[in-house]
Parts: sequence; C-alpha cells; structure tokens
Amino acid sequence: MTVDLRSDTVTRPTAAMRAAMAEAEVGDDVYGEDPTVAALEADVADLFGHEAALFTPSGSMANQIALQLLVPPGEELLCDADAHVVTYEIGAAAAIGGISTRTWPAVGADLDPDVVAGMIRPEGYGVPTRAVAIEQTHNRAGGGVFPLATLRELRGVTAAAGVALHCDGARIWHAHVADGVPLREYGGLFDTLSVCLSKGLGAPVGSLVVGSAERIGRARWIRKRMGGGMRQAGVLAAAGRYALREHLDRLAVDHERAARLADALAPTGLLARPARTNIVALDLTKAALDAPAVCAAAGERGVLVSAMGPRLLRLVTHLDLDDAGIDRAIEVLTDILRG
Ligand SMILES: *Cc1c(COP(=O)(O)O)cnc(C)c1O
Repeated sequence: MTVDLRSDTVTRPTAAMRAAMAEAEVGDDVYGEDPTVAALEADVADLFGHEAALFTPSGSMANQIALQLLVPPGEELLCDADAHVVTYEIGAAAAIGGISTRTWPAVGADLDPDVVAGMIRPEGYGVPTRAVAIEQTHNRAGGGVFPLATLRELRGVTAAAGVALHCDGARIWHAHVADGVPLREYGGLFDTLSVCLSKGLGAPVGSLVVGSAERIGRARWIRKRMGGGMRQAGVLAAAGRYALREHLDRLAVDHERAARLADALAPTGLLARPARTNIVALDLTKAALDAPAVCAAAGERGVLVSAMGPRLLRLVTHLDLDDAGIDRAIEVLTDILRG
C-alpha cells in the first residue's frame, strides 16, 4: 500500500462524487448555458459575500485572471517571495499579463503589514503599485494561516493607498476550518479571491475567481482569451458542488492527522514550524540527508513525500489517506530521519 503525502491534489473522486458528476445537467457554458456551472458560480460567490464568480480549469488560471483584472500591463504587483503566483505559475504574470512583480522576503503568514505599506509605490514616480497578493493558507510556509487581525490591518494599508488586495485562496477552506473565521469575513477583505476545488476538497478539476459583477464580467473575457472557455463543464462543476457540500467540514480530520504527523516527527528536531492545517514542513538543514534523498528512501518503502527545495520537505494530508497510512508514514519517516 502506497501512502501518498506529496500533495492534496492526488485525491481521486469518490463513488458518490462520480455519481453527482454523472447526473449533472449540462449545457454549453461558453454560451452561458450550463446550469450546473452557473449554480456553482452563484454558490461560491455567495459563500464569500461577493457578487459573482467564474469557474476556471486551474488555480493558476484563476490567480492570473485576477491579477490581470487588478494590474494593467507594465504596472506592479507586490507579494511574498515564496508566493505561488511567482514561484509555480511559470512566470505567467509577466509572460501573459505583462505585470511587473516585486516581492517582500518570504515570511508566509507572519507578514507585518507595515512592510507592505513601506513598499507601495504611489502613482507619478516609477512603476505604480496596483495590487498586493497574499496566500491563505500559505503553501511554502507549511500551510500557515494569516490571522484575521493581520488581514484587516493589511486591508487598511491597501485601502489607504488605493491599491487592490487579492487572496490566493487555494486552501482558504483550511484557514476557515482551522481558525473558525467565516468565509464571508475573509471575502469582505479582498477585491478578488481565487479558490480551489481540487486541493483538500477532493474534486478532480476546478477553481474559481471571485469578485464584483463588473470584474467577473471582464474575467470571463480574459478566460476566453487564455483558452479557458469550457463547454459542458457542468460535469466538473457538479464535482465541485458535491465537494463543497460533503468535504468542507471534514478538513478538520486532515488537520488532526497533520498535527499527529508533526507531533510524532517533532523529536527529530526538523519540524520547520507547528502544523496549523494539512501541511507539515520539515527543514532538513541540519539533517544527514537532503530532501531528494529522503524522498527516495521513503518512496522505496511506499511513503511518497515532496521535496520543495534541496532541504525543504513537505507532507500533505488529504481525503485519500487513513489513520493506518499516517501510522505507516510516521514509522518510515522517523526511521529515515533518525538516520
Ligand atoms: C495549488 C495552488 C494553486 C493552483 O494550482 P493549480 O495547480 O494551477 O490548480 C494556487 N495557489 C496555491 C497556494 C496552491 O497551492
């Protein structure tokens, strides 16, 4: 039996989710005629207290559409140096959006909003800052959760400067479950959000951009330009609707399992930070083996983990794991990391 802790994207749709997909009413969504896609978009907009949402094939496309909505070509986005939008989206902000990006040093969810305030460049001299993006939860920072107070302060900073605020909320569900902050509360703090259905929620495909009706109208046009117009996408939207109904609250189980993994691995002294959500980050700077070597050794024993850098290891819990798998991972990783 393989225990796959590489990512929460590895989940396969359950039998009940597949049944929901099979029964979905569909139409041509590029003509605006797919009722299931429209229902998903309305549901998600409502969850975050925004006017509208747009279904996209991936979280990267959702983020990049949002950035193009907020930042004209040649103008500037500010974000964390470890943000997904500048590390894993293959330079799309620059290559597709013509967006200039400046980053603050990687601090994950420990951001000090005053640092952002000091970086915002006003109009009139140099490249004007148009938007700030944060990530909730923060992937490379081990699933860290921005405290609501920090986000409110950041909103104050961006509002005062007349700059937009975007949330890469691929795992915002996990922040909601971990901190008990209502999704609407998060929604009210951002001009645009991207949210992902195929991470912890376990849908096979799909993300959404969330925002005002005016912005989402333009987003539809940008999505088409990027080749993201989908036809009978209701079969996918049905999986997302099912996931939101059935798999949101159970993220607490993934968090418990990640905490159990982290507790068990804590004696190795390699835990990068406490596990707040479904991600456990191990800093192997002081370990005998580097991250690729640990991946290979664990993989030989049926436990798959991710090297996020030469000395950074990531373990992610999700829907397709069980307690026995976590026990097995603890046994194998403790063995390898004790070396
Ligand atoms: C996974 C992820 C995305 C979107 O990734 P896709 O693979 O394009 O769906 C965006 N942001 C974060 C933080 C992610 O972890």
